[in-house]
Amino acid sequence: MKDEPHPCLRCGACCASFRVDFSVEELNQHGGPVPDGVAVELTGTLSRMRGTDHQPPRCAALTGTLGQAARCGIYEWRPSPCREFEAGSDACQRARHRHGLAPLADFPW
Ligand code: SF4
Ligand code: SF4
Repeated sequence: MKDEPHPCLRCGACCASFRVDFSVEELNQHGGPVPDGVAVELTGTLSRMRGTDHQPPRCAALTGTLGQAARCGIYEWRPSPCREFEAGSDACQRARHRHGLAPLADFPW
């Protein structure tokens, strides 16, 4: 199993399931890593990944085909909620279920 690609590379479900909100200080314009163009500044303190509050949600930075070959287009610069999101967590499994993908097993990878 360990030689297989990480399951997130064939998934992307969490990037098309939840609102992704984070501090404006993580935006480029405030000295942070997240490119300004893929986020919306909601208030003076809060920003949101563009597309994550759409119905259905899909982050503007997600590229590829969900459930087949999906990846984050700003992986190195993604905001803290994405860095903290754990593959195999309850939220991960809920996102996969929402998109008709089987639960992850055999964690940690
Ligand atoms: S839903 Fe889980 S398996 Fe899918 S990309 Fe997100 S963390 Fe990875
Ligand atoms: S920034 Fe990247 S990891 Fe975060 S929700 Fe968007 S596509 Fe997913």
